Amino acid sequence: MAKLKELSGELREIYTVNSDEVLSFKTYIAGIWTSTKDLEEVKSPIDLEVYAKVPKLNYEMVDMALQTLYKKGRWEIRDMPGEKRLKVFHTLASLLEKFRQDFVNVLVIGNGKTPSAANGEVNAAIERLERADLDVRKLYGEYVPGDWSTESLEAEAIVRREPLGIVLAITPFNYPLFDVVNKFVYSTVAGNAFILKPASATPLPAMLFAKLAEMAGFPKEALAVITIPGKEMDKIVQDKRIGVISLTGSTETGEQVMKIGGIKQYVMELGGGDSAIVMADADPKVSAQKIVTGITSYSGQRCDSIKFVFAEEPIYDKLKENLVEELRKVKVGDPRQDGVTMGPVIDPKTVDEFEFAVKDAVSKGGVVLYGGKRLGATYIEPTLIEIDKSKVKDLYLYKKEVFLSIAVLTQVSNIEEAIELSNGRRYGLDAALFGNDINKIRKAVRMLEVGAVYINEYPKHGIGYFPFGGRKDSGIGREGIGYTIEYVTAYKTVVYNYKGKGIWEYL
Ligand code: NAP
Repeated sequence: MAKLKELSGELREIYTVNSDEVLSFKTYIAGIWTSTKDLEEVKSPIDLEVYAKVPKLNYEMVDMALQTLYKKGRWEIRDMPGEKRLKVFHTLASLLEKFRQDFVNVLVIGNGKTPSAANGEVNAAIERLERADLDVRKLYGEYVPGDWSTESLEAEAIVRREPLGIVLAITPFNYPLFDVVNKFVYSTVAGNAFILKPASATPLPAMLFAKLAEMAGFPKEALAVITIPGKEMDKIVQDKRIGVISLTGSTETGEQVMKIGGIKQYVMELGGGDSAIVMADADPKVSAQKIVTGITSYSGQRCDSIKFVFAEEPIYDKLKENLVEELRKVKVGDPRQDGVTMGPVIDPKTVDEFEFAVKDAVSKGGVVLYGGKRLGATYIEPTLIEIDKSKVKDLYLYKKEVFLSIAVLTQVSNIEEAIELSNGRRYGLDAALFGNDINKIRKAVRMLEVGAVYINEYPKHGIGYFPFGGRKDSGIGREGIGYTIEYVTAYKTVVYNYKGKGIWEYL
């Protein structure tokens, strides 16, 4: 059974153990650990067992949290010198190292990650906290002289960058620690208070991180973790006390939040699924290895997961053979078992959608080259479906992101056809190009409607050392070290007017 072991040290202060060994957690609201009578069950995707319960906040409780952040927290964090904020981040990095095993256990049980993937996420979170020093260099303003006109000869302006006040971060289930840490770092390093709404499927990493933030001395009234279902967020999203909404999630959620949220600043990291374009002169074996990692890594539950492979005719057959060979090496199962490389999918609903998408593809002429089957409530075979280029655009998979390990393989006559098929999707997150012809690569780089192009590598956003983010229905803005400062701050122009009409007056 997928039960969560007792946590260690101070983390024990934020939960109680029920008679059925399920842990009931409190959440952090501006310095106070709170619970509710009504609790939400949290299930492991490994076997759908309940392993934790978390408070189910209502609007009134969130409103009170917002009030504290608005009245006190946003000024407290602003008055905290930058060097102290950085010190808190460094302390948090050490605390994450200290409690690494607790976080790894939570990510394995809660997300169905393999221990190695869970450790990778903890590493990324630590590194992101340590790299906050680089974000700080983006916090600068401008000086504008007024001497462009006689009227303003003795005026000048300073254009300051100021925090927008409160950032509401809404995070998805798939990177429940890293996404939280990333949004926390760029929001608070810029001087904003931080209200966090984690995914209902995986809320624990956010709550544990709040405990570490409290221990590290982060201003109490500048942080809240609101465990409330997404569908009950409308009044919060609309709230004018919130200056920025930073959401990572599906395109449908992004559209809803922007419709309801009205005029405010947004960072939207939305859905996608990427194309890989394989050119005639690519190495088929190496490309296949990388593409299959891009399809199957974390069970395909990554926004930058490869969902389409468009290959030029001369390499097609060899690539197809190599892709199937690589897929055969993927071992699906309970992520706690040795040798398993692909664990479960977050919920049975997504597997139902997978079955629908496979049926849809086959009914339109698709041929299942590998996989195609459900292996249990939350497990699937990694899947590759071949289809003719004339049919690709009809697929359900082309129109909508299906968030697990499934990809479509199609032969194209040239890269122009591949680019056209890639650009025809509503999404525009990333693309991968495999090959060596620099002229074709340059052409593809210029024409692809995406936020990032990875050459001879599968797309991976990593900790955001290189900025990432989508175009079209994949989002607005960029995440990445230093880059998001632009979206969580506002310019304020201060115009200084001096007496006099020019230097000659003083001589
Ligand atoms: P999701 O269902 O859209 O949920 C994301 C978050 O939004 C959750 O916290 C959810 O809360 C909340 N939410 C849902 N409806 C809401 C509403 N009406 N108002 C406010 N908040 C609402 O996405 P997911 O299934 O967790 O994550 C997978 C998606 O994220 C995929 O589409 C993937 O491509 C995308 N993603 C994008 C990136 C990127 O960098 N572009 C990175 C990772 C993931 P509840 O859980 O309570 O519903």
